[in-house]
Amino acid sequence: MSNVTPTHTHANSDTLQVYKTAADKGTQSVLIRHAKLKFQPMMFIHSLSLSSDSSSLRNSPSPVDFPALQLTKSTSPKYPFALSPKDSNFFGKNQYECQVLLPIPVGDSVLDLVVIGCGPAGLALAAESAKLGLKVGLIGPDLPFTNNYGVWEDEFKDLGLEGCIEHVWQNTIVYLDSDSDPIMIDRAYGRVCRDMLHEELLRKCVESGVSYLDSRVESIVEASNGISLVSCGHNIVVSCRLATVASGAASGKLLQYEVGGPKVSVQTAYGIEVEVESNPYDPEVMVFMDYRDYTKQSVRSSEAEYPTFLYVMPMSPTRLFFEETCLASKEAMPFDLLKKKLLSRLQTMGIRITKTYEEEWSWIPVGGSLPNTEQKNLAFGAAACMVHPATGYSVARSLSEAPKYASVIATILKPDHNKAIRSRQISNENISMLAWNTLWPQERKRQRSFFLFGLALILQQDIEGIRIFFHTFFRLPTWMWQGFLGSTLSSADLILFALYMFVLAPNNLRKNLVRHLLSDPSGATMIRTYFTFH
Ligand SMILES: Cc1cc2nc3c(=O)[nH]c(=O)nc-3n(C[C@H](O)[C@H](O)[C@H](O)COP(=O)(O)OP(=O)(O)OC[C@H]3O[C@@H](n4cnc5c(N)ncnc54)[C@H](O)[C@@H]3O)c2cc1C
Repeated sequence: MSNVTPTHTHANSDTLQVYKTAADKGTQSVLIRHAKLKFQPMMFIHSLSLSSDSSSLRNSPSPVDFPALQLTKSTSPKYPFALSPKDSNFFGKNQYECQVLLPIPVGDSVLDLVVIGCGPAGLALAAESAKLGLKVGLIGPDLPFTNNYGVWEDEFKDLGLEGCIEHVWQNTIVYLDSDSDPIMIDRAYGRVCRDMLHEELLRKCVESGVSYLDSRVESIVEASNGISLVSCGHNIVVSCRLATVASGAASGKLLQYEVGGPKVSVQTAYGIEVEVESNPYDPEVMVFMDYRDYTKQSVRSSEAEYPTFLYVMPMSPTRLFFEETCLASKEAMPFDLLKKKLLSRLQTMGIRITKTYEEEWSWIPVGGSLPNTEQKNLAFGAAACMVHPATGYSVARSLSEAPKYASVIATILKPDHNKAIRSRQISNENISMLAWNTLWPQERKRQRSFFLFGLALILQQDIEGIRIFFHTFFRLPTWMWQGFLGSTLSSADLILFALYMFVLAPNNLRKNLVRHLLSDPSGATMIRTYFTFH
């Protein structure tokens, strides 16, 4: 990932470009916000993000940090806990990050649960577990959220998080080619205000008494007495009864994954939030996928290898977030190629950029093996493969499953549960099995095997194949394709979905489907998973 810019950079004079990387995160994103600010020359920036329009600026003090910056933060009437320098009475002045949590107890004390990673999944799980009375410690670098999260509005409403959505489009549209009518997805889509979501999850952690350590975790070792020893930076060791890894998709150092599973593919995207002239997109409608090909002439040779689409969030008639996205590929699509395609596409459409607010490089691993459920350490979020293989989404699922997962963890940690396990002489190593089975019951595994089958099919398609696939997809009954996009179809529904697809598909796609089922390993795995009943 040579395009990933460094975590630290120099700020000099008036114009500051902050390179913020989450390269330590499982899913990787890099965000550059363009801003004009006064700073001391050559000051090192650590874990900082800023945006020029809202004058918002956040820092996250750490032992090696620079002197605290004055923070300003825009507030939203919709969001009761949004802070401003004047009314930051909830977390205290100038404190927005995990530093508002109590320090984690070290030494002899043993926590019930340690959650590793301060992304949406880690924060949600820590808060929900502590709410149930567990002594919970959260460990991870204290970073702001940088990803530009999009969600179906109803999913966030169901979670009581509609206040964290900064922009809603009542309608969502898909363009497949210039010859056919666009398809309206009759479902409202929202852009999450990442700062508000961060603060909301953090608020829940504060309220439920989660403690915190700003550090990376190096390893988790089980002591002979069954206690897990979580080794962090500066030789700090935190003891707990159970550890849950929520450190993003690249958590291989802390977790074991099943051997011989499907290969990891990757969704790559390059996005820019810009001010433009001559925007052809309706500001009332979010563009979920625009597969129309505006780049035929200029970057044609790459098109067959890397079919991409444009994802557009129009924030106003002139301010838009554009993201050139490669839905899935075996190898990451080079970011410079994505950027070239995006700029060429916009130019051909006659869209002229007058100002750039922010750039985003997105790299989301999809598919791959599930965690090995024999291990004692648990996982959650992207670390636990909760990213939807076909869409790259996981936030709504992690947030909605956190309470249930927390309650299973609480059950496991109840003294009488441990006693029951001992009386049945089940090995201590299996105490986590209940939690693993909650996260990945057979039904979920079946659904995932289906999505992986679809993912493998998509990987083989060129741009024409993808268009034919989606033309067929959107001819399915609405509940079916909407359910697929919203992850609400059961494994039985998905079989029905496959049959419908087969009936509606043109002959070449039908042949493809059958060949794929019979020859691709994902076909055999799906059939095996569907017929496994334990
Ligand atoms: C740019 C981008 C855009 C995305 N957009 C969407 C979207 O619109 N909708 C959606 O649903 N999903 C989206 N995703 C996919 C996925 O849902 C997100 O990556 C999501 O952030 C995953 O949440 P998480 O909490 O599991 O992991 P992460 O958000 O990756 O958080 C993991 C945390 O663990 C920390 N960590 C890493 N290693 C260690 C360690 N050794 N010790 C301690 N802490 C550690 C990291 O610093 C990080 O804070 C996007 C991903 C990217 C990269």
